[in-house]
Order: sequence, then structure tokens, then C-alpha cells
Amino acid sequence: MDAADRPQGRAASGSDPLTRVLVIGAGFAGLWAALGAARRLEELCVPPGSVDITVLSDKPFHDIRVRNYEADLSPCRIPLADVLDPAGVGHITADVTGINAHTREVMTSGGQTYHYDRLVLASGSRLVKPDLPGLREFGFDVDTYDDAIRLQLHLQQLADGPATSAAAAVVVVGAGLTGIETACEMPSRLRALFVRPAVAPRVVLVDHNRFVGSDMGVSARPVIEQALADNGVETRTAVSVAEISAAGVSLSSGEHLAAATVVWCAGMRANSLTEQLPVTRDRLGRVAVDDYLRVVGVPAVFAAGDVAVAKMDDEHVSVMSCQHGRPMGRYAGYNVISDLFGKPLLALRIPWYVTVLDLGPAGAVYTEGWDRTVVSRGAEAKVTKQTINTRRIYPPLTRDRADLLAAAAPDLQARP
Ligand SMILES: Cc1cc2nc3c(=O)[nH]c(=O)nc-3n(C[C@H](O)[C@H](O)[C@H](O)COP(=O)(O)OP(=O)(O)OC[C@H]3O[C@@H](n4cnc5c(N)ncnc54)[C@H](O)[C@@H]3O)c2cc1C
Repeated sequence: MDAADRPQGRAASGSDPLTRVLVIGAGFAGLWAALGAARRLEELCVPPGSVDITVLSDKPFHDIRVRNYEADLSPCRIPLADVLDPAGVGHITADVTGINAHTREVMTSGGQTYHYDRLVLASGSRLVKPDLPGLREFGFDVDTYDDAIRLQLHLQQLADGPATSAAAAVVVVGAGLTGIETACEMPSRLRALFVRPAVAPRVVLVDHNRFVGSDMGVSARPVIEQALADNGVETRTAVSVAEISAAGVSLSSGEHLAAATVVWCAGMRANSLTEQLPVTRDRLGRVAVDDYLRVVGVPAVFAAGDVAVAKMDDEHVSVMSCQHGRPMGRYAGYNVISDLFGKPLLALRIPWYVTVLDLGPAGAVYTEGWDRTVVSRGAEAKVTKQTINTRRIYPPLTRDRADLLAAAAPDLQARP
């Protein structure tokens, strides 16, 4: 590394000889940002020991969050040690509570302060839980791996208890993508659990919109409606939830649905760490990033995944999704190191958009384009969904540095 190749813009940091890149979050954006940064260091032949990349994450795992609606969660949690240690990326389990963009420091709930030369914010999003009577006490969700395990244990406890119809009844609130996937999977999950004695499952999907999957477009809606019917899922649309209790759900229509389980799937918002940056946020709480994933108006800070809103093409911005979070992460990782060394940055543009929605035993629906035109359905689309959920979005699990760095290249995958 000659003088021109030394890291640029480094803040004075006393006697600390290391240049530090911090990544907050180890989800689809954070993991790939960290690996993308490690890959770029190697590509620039930066001597080991001169730039430190460390992930700060509140869990020591890379969770495959998109699979939280599934019955078997065993393949959904990957230890960070398996995917970061071989790449030489540090990781610290810490709940980040503050970011000071002026002093370039990150603070944690444990009282630690970490200096950064470059920061990648990738702390994702959280399910929005409104202040609704009973939701916090009695509601379940599939937002995180831990939430999904809590739901799983609750259902198992019900199946082990008295065999009542309410015990085998689940109300899913929110007929967006997560709610539809959760509802479609639920009847077969309940049938597998409530076997002794057999209790007929009941699953009801509730939404305040007039249609289920209102964001999925007119082409996919009939496919979704048919799948819900085929799976035996009832729907209640154009109603809202008034109250949740241990006995079930009261709707704005006056109807009471007796159910021992309510799964809340309505609404997502960017992680609140975005509020620590001195910039405005969009209606989902996301910070604006430029084509290179730099937070607009905040020097030395990049953002990727659900915390960031980036242009995907000249007309569309990123959607809170794994589909966009992974490439945003890889590009942020490449660019954060390129920026440190004064090298050209790579602009991210993704010229395609797809949706692949799991419909449980009824298969799946696969749409292409921003207007979500159905291109396949049923068993054919299910194969695509399973390929995505079990292979395409996983990091290599070989513990091999070369495999991990190769997978972190700032390339765009082809459509699934
Ligand atoms: C059930 C379900 C199904 C989904 N299905 C799809 C789908 O089919 N296709 C699709 O594209 N998207 C889907 N999504 C959305 C997708 O999961 C998210 O958009 C994606 O996970 C965003 O990636 P991310 O890295 O930005 O955030 P996340 O994956 O949420 O990762 C955030 C990371 O930040 C960490 N973190 C958070 N706060 C802190 C803190 N204060 N301090 C330290 N660490 C912190 C978390 O532990 C985590 O490691 C689904 C989501 C759910 C819940």
C-alpha cells in the first residue's frame, strides 16, 4: 500500500493505529456489507491488520428472517462465527443505543463506545404494534426468530392442553405478504399439532383493506384468494381489530372470533437508530441514501437494507425486503472500503423486481415487474420459493474464506 492508497478522511483517534469500519446489524444487509467490505479489502491488497471491520449486532446470529412464518425454524439461525470468522470480520454482541455522527462514535446499552472511521447502518426494521387493547399481552408475531419460536411454543402448549375449538383457532391480522404466508401455512401446522384428539383447525385472516394482498396487484389477487380458500383460511376484510384478549379478537364489525392465538402481521417500520442521524426520514422511518449507499448529508455513514431508501431505477425506490437488502449490503460493503481508500464507488441500480409469495400447500405465486404480473403459480412457483428460502439467500456455510468473499461480490443476481 503506497501513500496514495492509505485510508482517507480518518478522524483523529489518539494512539489507535487501526482504521475502523463498523457495521450495525447482521441481517441480510449487515452480513453482506461486512463480507463485501472484507472482500474489497482483499481486492485492494490492503495489508491485514490495518483496517478492522466489526459487526455490532444484538444477536450473535444471522437470522433468515423471511422464513419465520414456516413451521420448522431449525435452518433459520446461523452463528455469526461461522460466516464472519473465516472472513476475518470481527463481531460483538451488543445492543446499539446511540450514534454520534459528529464524533463518529456508536454507543451501546452496556455502556461501551466504539469509534468508527466509516459506519454502515443496517439495523433493519421492526413490526409496528399499535397501542391496541390486548395486543402486547396476548398478541404473537413472526417478526424475529425469537418471536417465531415464542409462537411455536405457544401453539405446542395449546396442543398439549384441553382440546377446544378455540385452542386450534388462529387469527392472523394483516393480509399483506407476511400475513398471507403465515395464514396459508397455519392450517397444516395446526393439523400436525392437534392430533390427540384431533381438533379441526380454524384460521381467519383479517385486514382493514377491502382485499387481501392489496399491494400484490390485480393479477395476483385471484391466485391468492383461491389459495386461501383451498387451504381453508377464512377472511374478514374491511374490518379492523378493536380488542384482543386471551379468548380471541373483537372486530370493528361487532364480530368476536374465539381464538387462543392472534398473530399480528400488520406494518413494518425502519429500526429507530435511523433517528440518531441528523437527517429527515421517509414515512417508514428510512434515511435517504445516494446511489452508492451513502447517507445523504451525513459524512462517513452508509446505510443498507430496511433502514435505507435508495433508488432502484429512475422511477422506483427500494422496498423493505431481503430482495433489496442483500445487494444493498454488498454494494455498501464494497463502497465503504472504496471510499476509505479514495477508489471509485459502484452505483447500485437493480433493473428488475419480483415477488414470490408462499401460499402453503396451495403452492406459491411468482410475479414480475413493479405492477406484479403473475408469471407462475402453484407447484411451479413453489419450487422457485423453496429455492430462494433454502439456497439463494443463504451465505455459504462451508466456513471457507474464499467462498464467503466470492459470494459477497457486488454483482446483481439474475431473477430467481
Ligand atoms: C415473516 C417474514 C417474511 C418475509 N418475507 C420476505 C420475502 O419473501 N421476500 C423479501 O424480500 N423480504 C421478506 N421479508 C422482509 C425481510 O425479512 C426484510 O426486509 C429483511 O430482513 C431486511 O434486511 P435487513 O438486513 O435490513 O434487516 P434484518 O434482517 O431485520 O436485520 C437487522 C439486524 O440488525 C440487528 N439489530 C437491530 N437493532 C439493533 C440494535 N439496536 N443494535 C444492534 N443490532 C441491532 C438485528 O439483530 C439484525 O441482525 C419478510 C419478513 C418477515 C418478518
